[in-house]
Amino acid sequence: MRHIETDYLVVGAGASGMAFTDALIAADPDVDVVMVDRRHRPGGHWIDAYPFVRLHQPSACYGVNSRVLGSDRIDETGPNAGFYERATAAEICDYYNRVLEEHLLPSGQVRFFGMSDYLGRDGGNGSDGHRFVSRVSGEITTVKVRRRLVDTTYGEGTIPSRHTPAFEVDEDVRLIPPNDLVNLSGTAGGYTVLGAGKTAMDSCCWLLDQGVAPDRIRWIRPRDVWAFDRSATQPLELVGSYVEFMSRMVEAAAEARAEPTTSGAVVFGRLESHGLVHRLDESIEPAVFRGATLSKLEVKALRQISNVVRKGRVRRISTDRVVLEEGSISAEQGQVYVDCTASAVKVVPVRPVFEDDLITMQIVTFGIVPWSAATLGYVEASRDDDREKNRLCPPLGFTGELADPPHAIYVGFKAPAERMAEPDIAAWNESSRLNPMRGVADHLDDTRVTEGFSRLAANMGPALANLERMLAGAEVTVG
Ligand SMILES: Cc1cc2nc3c(=O)[nH]c(=O)nc-3n(C[C@H](O)[C@H](O)[C@H](O)COP(=O)(O)OP(=O)(O)OC[C@H]3O[C@@H](n4cnc5c(N)ncnc54)[C@H](O)[C@@H]3O)c2cc1C
Repeated sequence: MRHIETDYLVVGAGASGMAFTDALIAADPDVDVVMVDRRHRPGGHWIDAYPFVRLHQPSACYGVNSRVLGSDRIDETGPNAGFYERATAAEICDYYNRVLEEHLLPSGQVRFFGMSDYLGRDGGNGSDGHRFVSRVSGEITTVKVRRRLVDTTYGEGTIPSRHTPAFEVDEDVRLIPPNDLVNLSGTAGGYTVLGAGKTAMDSCCWLLDQGVAPDRIRWIRPRDVWAFDRSATQPLELVGSYVEFMSRMVEAAAEARAEPTTSGAVVFGRLESHGLVHRLDESIEPAVFRGATLSKLEVKALRQISNVVRKGRVRRISTDRVVLEEGSISAEQGQVYVDCTASAVKVVPVRPVFEDDLITMQIVTFGIVPWSAATLGYVEASRDDDREKNRLCPPLGFTGELADPPHAIYVGFKAPAERMAEPDIAAWNESSRLNPMRGVADHLDDTRVTEGFSRLAANMGPALANLERMLAGAEVTVG
């Protein structure tokens, strides 16, 4: 058994753990960090992602603060034309490897233990500290943590290549994760894509890109989802579209006059009227949003698939039938079933981020995971009092249900106002490459920026008052 000591033990070297650690060591050059991950290298779920996946959002604000991802190029062709480039999974993994090997480890402040399972506090063994075990050698390491455990796995979802389907599958049925689409050979009788989320959307787009006719794709979509328009997350030269999105969201929140569940639908309806969110079938009101982002060209492509099965979730696939919650459909010969049913979003209760010797990583900024994690790293390093840290960084909460927006919008606008009232955090935020609004003051010649700011100024007060009324009685942790 090996014994080590550190200030912070970070469990998980995915996007959250990497952005947090990078920001923490930048703000505190004396701090010592141990990172542990059961995967062999940093990158988290991107390491096992399907090969044709890309970021939903621009590389320009993804990764860690200290290193640029990509070249901040605006794509000129393809479905992403006119928007900032989006890294592939391979590029993201290479990036995180370089961040580790060329920055974190050489800093002398960080040690990384891959292929290691964190076993918990005391490892159930009564020892004085935390324990992890090497998945290769079996060696157990105990860690004395002087300051905090940083748990980045609290909301860890499942991914297609590692999940077990929640339905039965007969032996002769050809069910594959999207990862295996690129290994297909021979002609399939047709493709049945299972799932409603971004993975299913990506798989359908990929099949269409490969020349599969839309009528050879059947899409089992238990629930329809809202997806953000790609313009909603553009930084730098295109920051005007981000400001417009934010301001339209606040405008919609000021106008919503209903209970949380219905007002989620009202907010999305308003955003849709401005082309900022999409539904794939205009005749169906989506029941959820999972944070997926699509360009208008992708929406157009996906709408070509007309064979959409809405009979609930799959229960069983046999050679001749697919049994669903609300009926069954025939299973044609030679079908390839693409399993996109892994849930990337794990629904967990919101809890304080900073508690005693624990940091529970949750989303505290709109949408962008690394920006959120880096914000927590900076706040942890620059403040002493946990009450103050929690006041500045309340989690937005994300379940993917339509009841989310009132709470998320309320916290998502009120907390940044509190943070920006602190000069050092405001300066840090403005210098952070992960912040999609950075440099917005240089774009006051863009009418979307000036009109967006006017809209924000006119609607912020009424929106917060309206949401406060709506959320009365609910647990909202913004002071
Ligand atoms: C297709 C897709 C596209 C996306 N695009 C974007 C985007 O454009 N922008 C954006 O902000 N977000 C995007 N996301 C969301 C994405 O989840 C986050 O960006 C981010 O990658 C999540 O990182 P994480 O570190 O929180 O979690 P993970 O990547 O899941 O990392 C958690 C790590 O913890 C490790 N771990 C868990 N338990 C243990 C244990 N007991 N011991 C040791 N290690 C453990 C795991 O091995 C894993 O490596 C996308 C997600 C998907 C699925």
